[in-house]
Amino acid sequence: MPNIPDRLPIPDKIPETRLMPRPETLRGKLQAVLNATKLGNERLHKIGGEPDWIQDDETPECCGQSAMFYGQLGSLGGEYDLIDNGIIYVFICRKCLRTHSVFQFS
Ligand SMILES: [Zn+2]
Repeated sequence: MPNIPDRLPIPDKIPETRLMPRPETLRGKLQAVLNATKLGNERLHKIGGEPDWIQDDETPECCGQSAMFYGQLGSLGGEYDLIDNGIIYVFICRKCLRTHSVFQFS
């Protein structure tokens, strides 16, 4: 296999930045607060850091190496719940710049 150079001009590890859902309606905001309090969802959405795997590590391989973890999106709960508070993990290959996602739930 030819040696493909790293094309992603950022460090290997992105500092962990937690994201908060910000629904537009008051009802949505209240529901988000309720969900965060009940389920601990407020910490599921983030960019960087390490994946908070629900199951085993499923880091995708691409171009002969592990893809870089970019971030994860958790469930919003209620009618938008991704199967028992599932999480979508997003990765990017530093060589071909293809993105990969993994979905896990309990
Ligand atoms: Zn690749």
